Amino acid sequence: MCVFCRIVKGETTSEIVYQDEEVTAFRDINPKAPTHILVVPNKHIRSLAYVEPEDTLLLGRLLQVAKALADQEGIGRTGYRLIMNCGYGAGQIVHHLHLHLLGGWDMG
Ligand code: AMP
Ligand code: ZN
Repeated sequence: MCVFCRIVKGETTSEIVYQDEEVTAFRDINPKAPTHILVVPNKHIRSLAYVEPEDTLLLGRLLQVAKALADQEGIGRTGYRLIMNCGYGAGQIVHHLHLHLLGGWDMG
């Protein structure tokens, strides 16, 4: 089982910030920004390249959760970045589809 599947099932320690029947979000273990959260589908999908038409609503749910978490983190208005790496060439290390939510930089 992949590391993110284990996090979804609660079999690996992680700082989960959101979970429902379809989506789990947890803090990245090696944060690249003050806020760095990973939003993943509970079901294992290798990457966007493996998404099927029936996953369309699930993809929308990932974005809705990311938006809600950005608000919760207090960066909904100041701004944030969403990144999804797809495949080895893009630097995808964990082959379980995930959205990076990054923000909280001091733009002063
Ligand atoms: P990517 O390059 O898009 O595949 O990014 C994978 C991300 O997962 C990296 O930012 C890692 O720091 C993060 N990561 C790997 N293992 C864990 C873990 N056990 N808990 C939280 N984040 C993790
Ligand atoms: Zn998985």
